Amino acid sequence: MKKQIFVLLVLVFCFHLTSCNNMTESIIKKRMEQQQEQITSFKDGRLHVILVGTGGPLPNEKRISATSIAVIAGKEFILVDVGPGVVRNMGLQGLPLGSITAVFLTHFHSDHISDLGELAFMSWAQGRTRQKLMVFGPEGVKQVVNGYNIAYSLDSSYRVAHHGEEIMPSPAAGIVANTLSIPDPKIDVPFYNHNGLIVSVFLVDHHPAEPAVGYRFEYKGKVVVITGDTKKTETLANHAKAADLFICDALDVKLVETMSRVAAETKQPRLAAQLHDIQDYHMTPVQAAEVAKKAGVRKLIFVHIVPPLTNFVAKNSFLAGVDDIYDGDIILGEDGMTFSLNPQY
Ligand SMILES: [Zn+2]
Ligand SMILES: [Zn+2]
Repeated sequence: MKKQIFVLLVLVFCFHLTSCNNMTESIIKKRMEQQQEQITSFKDGRLHVILVGTGGPLPNEKRISATSIAVIAGKEFILVDVGPGVVRNMGLQGLPLGSITAVFLTHFHSDHISDLGELAFMSWAQGRTRQKLMVFGPEGVKQVVNGYNIAYSLDSSYRVAHHGEEIMPSPAAGIVANTLSIPDPKIDVPFYNHNGLIVSVFLVDHHPAEPAVGYRFEYKGKVVVITGDTKKTETLANHAKAADLFICDALDVKLVETMSRVAAETKQPRLAAQLHDIQDYHMTPVQAAEVAKKAGVRKLIFVHIVPPLTNFVAKNSFLAGVDDIYDGDIILGEDGMTFSLNPQY
């Protein structure tokens, strides 16, 4: 009798194990199929813009990663800026890291570059096998890229040794820097023209982070402009002229000044000084609205949201006065938001 019970228990255990294995396999398969569908959906001929990250230096729940924007247009997949958390957000958002064609940096503050080494590694591991990751940026980009190449060189050698050249080809490991020079703040300088996507770079004012730049993307009649970090300048509206999407850095001076005052009152002078200093090199939301109106853009999208907006009072403060000036669509960016534009031809 005991023997029969034992056999029965073994059979139940085996059945349970088999069905668990089957279930696990089917979940993994489903997840992989979903990822493939997501990747395929970006190849529908439209211009896709994904707000990979929308936070500033400090995160909040809906803006965990620092500001980073993905632009996918046909065969082109460009990432603008790569701050903390960007690569993990890309994974969660189902973006095809291995298909990335180039990275454009706006400037070299840490919240715009700190995941660059991780992106170089992950895009190599997930599919970039023919060439190194191409990174474009203003003067200084070579120094940043060299640093990451040195920091990641040991890891690259371990990966090749472990998986072999066929899986992890060493010529594709690492990053190549391309320096953009812009002689005049008034002009857009075209520097990238591939597969119907044309991108120009323009100077912004984020002193003392100099030079700092923004980018204007044009794809089959559609225009996306990304300002990077900047204060309001005379030339910004011209660079953003008639954009379908105007993706704009903004800082709520009222909130940040209040935080600075409270920090001073609570004997945190260092924090108070930092909160005071950052107010002079970003646009306020109202200033961004003024630029959007002057430029005649279709949609104003706020990213690099400073300070973190943790409740509706802060959110209302951030947007106060914006729709008095600009009457197009106003979007307070959150991580993962996606905009898909139909090309005109
Ligand atoms: Zn900055
Ligand atoms: Zn920044």
